[in-house]
Amino acid sequence: MKLCRFNDDRLGLVEGDMVLDVSAALDVLPPVRWPVPLGDPLVRHLQALLPAVRNARIAAPRLPLSEVRLHSPLTNPSKVMAAPANYRLHVEQDTRDPGVDHGVHRKALEGVERPTEKYGLFLKATSAIAGPAEGVQVILPERRTDHEVELAVVIGTAGHAIRRADAMQHVAGYCIGLDMTVRGTEDRSFRKSPDSYTVLGPWFVTADEVADPHALMMSLWVNGERRQHSSTGAMTVDIPDLIAIASSMYTLHPGDVILTGTPEGVGPVVPGDTVRVACDRLGEMSFAVSAHR
Ligand code: MN
Repeated sequence: MKLCRFNDDRLGLVEGDMVLDVSAALDVLPPVRWPVPLGDPLVRHLQALLPAVRNARIAAPRLPLSEVRLHSPLTNPSKVMAAPANYRLHVEQDTRDPGVDHGVHRKALEGVERPTEKYGLFLKATSAIAGPAEGVQVILPERRTDHEVELAVVIGTAGHAIRRADAMQHVAGYCIGLDMTVRGTEDRSFRKSPDSYTVLGPWFVTADEVADPHALMMSLWVNGERRQHSSTGAMTVDIPDLIAIASSMYTLHPGDVILTGTPEGVGPVVPGDTVRVACDRLGEMSFAVSAHR
C-alpha cells in the first residue's frame, strides 16, 4: 500500500496515477492528550489504519496525482537517523572534491571499511522534515548546499538492541529521503538539520511491496541532468546491520527514519533548481530549490 499526505493534510491512497482520498480512515487514530506518545501516529497505528483505508477506499473521491500537493508522509518521527559514508564510491569519488571534503571526511575515512560501525549513525532534527510540495530552502547562500538521495527505512515496531536476524520485522516500510547538507566543518547534525533539509516522499510504501530493499535503482536529477544513479545494493552496511547498530544505542519508535546513506554523485543545488528523484518500487517526485524565506 502507498499512503501519502496531500493538500490540506488529506490521507491519500496512491494507485497508479490517481490518489484516492481515504481521510475517513484517520478516525481510527486515537485522540492525543498530554503526554504525547513518541513516534509517528500514522505508523504507530498502522495495523488498525490499513483495514480502515481498505474500507474507506470504496467510496473515496479520486484525484489525479499530478494535481495534488504532496507533503511528507511522516509528520512526527521521534528521530531521523542517518548513516555516514555508507556507499564506497561516494567515499572514494566525492570526498576528492574539496568542496565536499573540507579537510574532514577523507582523513577520517582512510582505511575504514565500514564507517557506520566505527562512527555510528548521526541524527537530523525532526524539524528539518519537508515534503516535495515545500521543497528545499537554501539556508546560507554563500555556502554549498548539496543533494544526497537515500533510501529511507521507516521503523514499524519499537525495539531496543534488535538483533540482525530480527531487524527486518521492525521495518514498516520505505520512502525516498533527501539528506540535504550544508558543506563545511561543523558537526553533521548541525549542517544537515536546517528546516526543509530532510525531504521525505513521495509517499510511504509498506514493506510488503518491497521484496528486496537492497535491489532498488535510485536516481537523482538536477534540472534534467542525472547526478546520482545507483543500486541500493551498493550500500556498505546493510539495513539489518543499520537497525542493529542504531538500536544498540537508542530505542527505535514507530515512524523513526533511518537514512541509509547516499551513493556517489553528490553536488550543489541553488535557488531556482528543480530536483527530481526516483526509486524502484517507491515512485518519483520533483521539488523546487528556493532561497530561505
Ligand atoms: Mn547522507
